[in-house]
Amino acid sequence: MSTSLLYHGFGIVGYQYGSQQFHGGQVICRIEQARDRLRCPQCGCDDVWIRGHQERTFRSLPIGLKPPVVTLDVARVWCPVCDGVLQVQIGFADPTKRSTRSFERYALQLSRHLTIKDVAEHLQVSWDTSKDIQASNRQRRFGRPKLHKLQQIAIDESAVGKGHRYLTVVLNLLSGAVVFVGDGKGVEALEPFWKRLRRARAKIQAVATARSSAYIRAVRDNLPKAVPVCDHFHVIQLFNDKLSACRRELHHQASSQEERQILKGTRGLLRKNPENLDEDGQERQRLEEALGLNKPLTLAYELKEDLRQIWSQRHKDTARRVLRDWLARARAADLRMLVQFAATVEEHQEGILNYDDDRISTAPLEGTNNKIQLLKRPAYGFRDQAFFKLKILGLHETKHALVG
Ligand SMILES: [Zn+2]
Repeated sequence: MSTSLLYHGFGIVGYQYGSQQFHGGQVICRIEQARDRLRCPQCGCDDVWIRGHQERTFRSLPIGLKPPVVTLDVARVWCPVCDGVLQVQIGFADPTKRSTRSFERYALQLSRHLTIKDVAEHLQVSWDTSKDIQASNRQRRFGRPKLHKLQQIAIDESAVGKGHRYLTVVLNLLSGAVVFVGDGKGVEALEPFWKRLRRARAKIQAVATARSSAYIRAVRDNLPKAVPVCDHFHVIQLFNDKLSACRRELHHQASSQEERQILKGTRGLLRKNPENLDEDGQERQRLEEALGLNKPLTLAYELKEDLRQIWSQRHKDTARRVLRDWLARARAADLRMLVQFAATVEEHQEGILNYDDDRISTAPLEGTNNKIQLLKRPAYGFRDQAFFKLKILGLHETKHALVG
């Protein structure tokens, strides 16, 4: 080891090599700071007097398979300008950390390809150390997303874990980045977000929310100037749920084995958009057979297709007419499920029609939600709630496999 190896190999600048020892399979390298390099950490004054030392040890980059540590007697100095005794700054590590910055950089590079556990094993550190290196890096980069330029957002809940544990996620629709992760779901989960928005003086123009009326109300109360947008994605999803329930009921009521057979496996077909039905696989034919069994189901299915038309209108006025016509037909159908659904659509009609102005939806959030589900694997640090949130906040930068 030498001073230039310290500099070129270990990224430790401004210190001299002192001595090295091999102890218990570990390389211990003692380094020193020259007297004339000591400065007051507060004012930078170099006319300081040494008033003792504190020995500190830092994990450094591996040499082959050996995990070396660097030890340094960190000086405490008296400064005549500040009239106090202070510990000098350490140039190659954060004062609270037990690893050098170059070691942390290396661990972070590895974490792009390996899990927390893999990095810990490879570098011979604990799982917690491996995770903490990532956590503080993420905290610095994603911990406080800038909100002042935020314009269009989407809000939705994400189920994470057993026992109905939820997080509420807010996405910046223009950048694709998650800007807030709240605990739980509903109005309270968003409270800290509104506070931050107010502090940042953000001017939100449009908000796409999930079908939850709690979110819609919260948006109305906290962002009265923003246009709420109820997107087709969730409305259709909700309608599909009703359609599935209708089919299930029919299946239970089916009088013959043959009927049951026809209805079997049509749940997915009913939910699919007709243009996505696979002609060769006879999906269309199977669907038509199932629909032929029951008039109300056919009607409900047709009304789903008509419902989608509302969002494809080019002008808001036409969309409004299509929506009114739809409500009238749904109510006339005399099917409880459709009447109930019409009430929901009517309640959110302004949000639905606003789609024509902003063309935003929570669909991008669905992609983010899928990635969140992948992050739930224990190896990715799901156990630690704060870390899990930081990972969600950094999802937009995840280009490779979701590891670490
Ligand atoms: Zn000073």
